[in-house]
Amino acid sequence: MNHERSSFLFQQAKAAIPGGVNSPVRAFKSVGADPLFIKKASGSHIYDEDGNSFVDYVGSWGPMIAGHCHPDVIKSVQETMTSGASFGAPTVLENTLANMVIDAVPSIEMVRMVSSGTEATMSAIRLARGYTGRDKIIKFSGCYHGHADSLLVKAGSGAATFGVPDSPGVPAEVARLTLTAEYNSLDSVRKLVAENSGGIACIIVEPVAGNMGTVPPREGFLEGLREICTNEGILLIFDEVMSGFRVAYGGAQELYGITPDMTTLGKIIGGGLPVGAFGGRRDIMEKLSPSGGVYQAGTLSGNPLAMAAGIATLNIIKQPGFYEALAEKGQRVAEGIAKAARDAGYPIYSTRVGSMFCAFFSKGEVYDWPTASQCDTSAFSKYFLAMLDEGIYLAPSQFETAFISAAHSEDDIEKTIAAAAKCFKLIA
Ligand SMILES: *Cc1c(COP(=O)(O)O)cnc(C)c1O
Repeated sequence: MNHERSSFLFQQAKAAIPGGVNSPVRAFKSVGADPLFIKKASGSHIYDEDGNSFVDYVGSWGPMIAGHCHPDVIKSVQETMTSGASFGAPTVLENTLANMVIDAVPSIEMVRMVSSGTEATMSAIRLARGYTGRDKIIKFSGCYHGHADSLLVKAGSGAATFGVPDSPGVPAEVARLTLTAEYNSLDSVRKLVAENSGGIACIIVEPVAGNMGTVPPREGFLEGLREICTNEGILLIFDEVMSGFRVAYGGAQELYGITPDMTTLGKIIGGGLPVGAFGGRRDIMEKLSPSGGVYQAGTLSGNPLAMAAGIATLNIIKQPGFYEALAEKGQRVAEGIAKAARDAGYPIYSTRVGSMFCAFFSKGEVYDWPTASQCDTSAFSKYFLAMLDEGIYLAPSQFETAFISAAHSEDDIEKTIAAAAKCFKLIA
């Protein structure tokens, strides 16, 4: 497969844009290749600048649940655009999407729109701190919540009490306030809570972890977090930027029946345009400016085009049977890939929640970051590049989730499984 033009464009990009990309994981660095420049997409497929076509399992990292270029989304955005792209004043579209979110997500009584998932989580944490009057937060190793200072922190080795920044530029003083527990380990949470009694504002968690590969919550984990938070006056924040409208219309909280105090959203609610949102209990949300004192703002928040794309997308995916059909496709492709690996004598650890799935290059179970990080990433890289050559576009990292959309066909799935059979034989 020829990637000449993409490679040329990447060389050009590197001169103008740091690392040649506007978001690091796009760079294909962890798989040792140059990224493809994408020219267009349609349904389940993306097309690069060299004219190659791929079955797409990235879906813009989650938003494209209805498939690329859904006619309803295009129509809605085009019509909205002709009335003006942005006013910086309230619009009906904002009321509509806010009410759709409130109707969809069980715990959300009020919601504020922002322009990215990062803004949503950053703002939710400020609000949790403002509401509780406490400064410390707990997150989980391997969970990603965007790139705000206090969230770019993971565990130091073992039972580190204080956070260590993941990036230069994050002040140690800020990172110190972020405590890190292990995913699926209530004991690790209880320990931090006991050591910091009365000091923790919130626990933020991906209720289905999707940023260390796909790691489902173990039975009792989310329930246990709910109980700890209720007992300790800690706010429970579900970061559903990925899982919201993905694992069920009402997100992971609907799927598992757990009610967080606050929820962050992004990705799907923008239908491919930049949208994030955070919402929750009314008494918490009313502490937000201008009804309360916790400041948060945005020039393009609730942007009409983004609202229009979100509304159109939600109208597509709220149809009866949508998630059942999607989960069935997810199951066929994830099980097909796992079987292809077994048949090739190279068993993997396969995880899936609805239309999110992952093939971990691990012989053992993956249930947290320490177990995920033991995967054979060099074997994954070979698999990734071989799959790309077969016309299958996966996320260029072992620690990402694959997404299937409503536009993926039976043919796409068969082609994917056949490609996987070939690629696992290559690396076995
Ligand atoms: C993608 C993601 C974010 C960040 O969203 P951006 O729109 O990239 O800022 C936050 N949390 C989770 C769980 C995500 O998957």
